[in-house]
Amino acid sequence: MPYVATRDDCIFCGIVAGKLPGRVVYEDDRTVAFLDIFPLTRGHTLVVPKRHCVNLLDARTEDVVAVALTAQQMARTVSDRLGADGVNLLQATGKVAFQTVMHFHVHVLPRYVDDGFVLPFERTPGVDAELDELAARLKS
Ligand code: 5GP
Ligand code: ZN
Repeated sequence: MPYVATRDDCIFCGIVAGKLPGRVVYEDDRTVAFLDIFPLTRGHTLVVPKRHCVNLLDARTEDVVAVALTAQQMARTVSDRLGADGVNLLQATGKVAFQTVMHFHVHVLPRYVDDGFVLPFERTPGVDAELDELAARLKS
């Protein structure tokens, strides 16, 4: 893929282009992976497409596929090299979903036994009628 022009006002485009500092740990034709500067867990890594897009909704299919493959590779790498016991992948699309940097990215969060990282929600069973209605709406 030819190198795709980046946005001057985008932090992650700056890292992709090498204009801003970033601890890049992996790069291929379509993607870059670098350490998050506010790590939630040890080895917290971000995977981004080189081509600027805002989030999952406007990302091109080939970039989503490439980012997913790099995220899997990084999951394997943090497991092998850092001894992670598990991995969470996190993707935020939209401010309401906690997206703060408007360049599509997937968080690779290495997980360790007793790392103290907890998801702040409690799960309760869904209501059958609502689930049925939702399934009907979403079915394609
Ligand atoms: P979001 O909340 O958009 O899903 O995640 C954005 C992530 O980017 C956050 O985890 C934040 O710590 C990280 N981040 C913000 N600015 C920078 C930066 O300049 N360099 C790096 N490496 N990470 C950043
Ligand atoms: Zn960008």
